[in-house]
Amino acid sequence: MDAVIAAGGKGTRLGELTREIPKCLIAVAGRPLLSLQLEELSRSGIRKVWLLTGHLGWLVEEYIRDNRQPVEVELIREEAPLGTGGGLASLAGRIEEPFVFLYGDLVLSLDLGRMWAFHDRSGAAVTMLAHPSSHPGDSDLILEGEGERVLGISRKSQVRRDWLRNLANAGLYILSPDLPASIERGARLDFEKEILPPYIEAGTTFAYRTTEFVKDMGTPERLAEAGEAIGTGAAEARRLSNRQRAIFLDRDGTINEFVGLVSRPEQLRLLGGAAAAIRRINRSKYLCFVVSNQPAAARNLCDVAGIETIHRKLETLLGQDGAFLDDIRFCPHHPDRGYPEENPALKIDCACRKPKPGMLLELAERYNINLAESYMIGDTSVDVMTAANAGTKSILVASGMKEEPPKYDARPDSRASDLGEAVGAILDGNV
Ligand SMILES: [Zn+2]
Repeated sequence: MDAVIAAGGKGTRLGELTREIPKCLIAVAGRPLLSLQLEELSRSGIRKVWLLTGHLGWLVEEYIRDNRQPVEVELIREEAPLGTGGGLASLAGRIEEPFVFLYGDLVLSLDLGRMWAFHDRSGAAVTMLAHPSSHPGDSDLILEGEGERVLGISRKSQVRRDWLRNLANAGLYILSPDLPASIERGARLDFEKEILPPYIEAGTTFAYRTTEFVKDMGTPERLAEAGEAIGTGAAEARRLSNRQRAIFLDRDGTINEFVGLVSRPEQLRLLGGAAAAIRRINRSKYLCFVVSNQPAAARNLCDVAGIETIHRKLETLLGQDGAFLDDIRFCPHHPDRGYPEENPALKIDCACRKPKPGMLLELAERYNINLAESYMIGDTSVDVMTAANAGTKSILVASGMKEEPPKYDARPDSRASDLGEAVGAILDGNV
């Protein structure tokens, strides 16, 4: 596989820093970003990188010439600024396989092999790298349909009236080799605004979701954060080729107030301290997932899309507090038939309804999670039993349903008053 790096941009938001040095040569953890990128791409098996240069391009060329690189680099100088996407036209006819396209200001630690496998399976023309953002209100968010198909992009500049999933566009793509030939040569084009839309409209664009470290260093603050994550090894630890640890959270009574079955977004209200607790997980070595039984759909109190709307509200509320979920899984099923109004298609004995471990096992497979070093936090014996069945440790919180008597005879590894206390106990090494 080849990769193309768009490194011609001016980086005006970095101010003085990019007046005399191109953005891709700015030091991150003591090394030029470009050198980190080339090493990362090489680790994922990429052999050749096409480097599109522009602003202060001669400095980039000099750097490539004077330093040994882990991959073959071919330089293409843009004589006039071509925007974020116009430069791709020069690759028409020169690349025969799908290729990675990324921006020169992206700090990343990413197992591209997984994204590649996803691209291959989906048959996409364009695969977008997507991840939850700690600041979704200030990010372009991907609107996703059935089967991870991209339906559109909600721009950060737009006024948002709906609840949105926290799925931000990371700025890295796998593209069909036919794409460069469709771009007008010499035209100045914005990739997201002018090149991507027809592929979204054609239904051939998919979002690949990851929990790995990807950050654009467009501002001095982000540059500092990225430097720290690279320097301390936190970014490398998140690489999905390394085993992950996770904290799985029940939803109702653990994150939001327990009010019985939630079938409408208005019924979802965060518990005090829940967003702060999730923010602590986000800054730790643990991934954070919600795994929730939602039989409201099986009982026809709402449909599966209704549950997804409720989750969009959950993610939006958390995002307003700088917290995010790495992913969400829910079981819309229920095994007992024979109620009036029920949805027979969802009245099945599935493998995902807790206390079965299906949702945790699937997430463990998807994100390479070591369950024995992971935790489940919930407010009922169902969650404790799920943890036992999946092989994680468990913490029972007292913030939700008062289960009397408990449905399952299962002992939690620990108890806590609420999510904040439970997360504190894990991160302080007390469970
Ligand atoms: Zn299920």
